[in-house]
Amino acid sequence: MTVELRPVPGDPDLLEAKVHDVEIGAVRLEVTGGLARMAAQVDPAPGLESQDIVDLVLATVTRAKKGGATDVEFHCESLLLRHAARQVGLGGALRVPLRARIDDIGRRTPAGTTLRGSDQRERTSWLSATLNELGVASTPARPSRSLRRLATRLSGGVGDTLDVVVEWAPGRTFTISVPDRPDIMPEGVALTADTTAAVFRRFPDQANAAKAIHFDKAEHGLKSGRYAGVAQLSVPSIHLTIGFVTTEFFIQMMQPRSTGTPRSSSARPSSPYTAVDATVAHELWHQIESAFEARHYALGMELRHQVGLELGVQTLEHAVKGASPKATPAWQSAYRRLAAEVSPYATTNAREATAELFKLWWCRNGPPAPVVARFGELVDQMLPPKTPTA
Ligand SMILES: [Zn+2]
Repeated sequence: MTVELRPVPGDPDLLEAKVHDVEIGAVRLEVTGGLARMAAQVDPAPGLESQDIVDLVLATVTRAKKGGATDVEFHCESLLLRHAARQVGLGGALRVPLRARIDDIGRRTPAGTTLRGSDQRERTSWLSATLNELGVASTPARPSRSLRRLATRLSGGVGDTLDVVVEWAPGRTFTISVPDRPDIMPEGVALTADTTAAVFRRFPDQANAAKAIHFDKAEHGLKSGRYAGVAQLSVPSIHLTIGFVTTEFFIQMMQPRSTGTPRSSSARPSSPYTAVDATVAHELWHQIESAFEARHYALGMELRHQVGLELGVQTLEHAVKGASPKATPAWQSAYRRLAAEVSPYATTNAREATAELFKLWWCRNGPPAPVVARFGELVDQMLPPKTPTA
């Protein structure tokens, strides 16, 4: 084991995690009555590898056992940490703490955490079965020639893919395409499928605007505004960074150099929602908005007008222009509210603003900020919930 845990002076439950004297993160560990409650965070240390994360979890569990624990409960939203915890034997559904009996940890690699299968078809079946274990019903996609051509054309150079189909309502489906790599994190795929299915059930009339979800090369990643252009109805797909579904690119995405500004300034979702849920919701909103605007352009204008009124201006466009030297005091104040209550990224333009508003409304836990709450009310009025039809 390479990871060392050292107590932080002044806080007996807080431990620093180091590999060869390089800090890679921190752990909080509390043992009460046989139960160890642990939480952890990983820092973007140079040279960090996915095995270090596994070792961090194992080192924490070993310490918990020495402290008298028989069971462990891991509170964490990081996909990388959850993936490592699942690899050593913790388990549980999406968006809840993972659990295990300590004596069961580390004995063997549990099913559904390491890519299995000697050919692409078997590996696709493995992925589908693993998603099913995580509570997301899916089937391996039939490699129809047109689908494969489309996948290859759009996959952004990630090579072969594993494609699964998710049926979110009777007869209505979408495809998720992930790179065929050994470091796949199925939970990232499952969260994507789960959030997409939930959003589609809420907006069934717009669901055809995203029939395929592709995990792309990391460079394309989260500069998501660029993909509004891909939201043409002839190409109903969204693209997400492969950092959400592979350990290597997740670690790369954590490094400050490769993340870039758009991601760091976009809104963080409330726990238990994860960064994947948030990005999926954001991207889906771009598709939903372009789908309803294609049919009812005035609806989009009215939505921006009403959100603007909430911010004290005539339309959301005035709020996003509030940083301009020509902006009136009302525009400036609307801009500041948008940045503070939603995110700095929301001030990019009105489309990014509504996508960020939707993300925070969808991934809410407890009362959202006033402008987010108002946005949600408006969406419920303008696009009331409906029953999906095949
Ligand atoms: Zn966007």
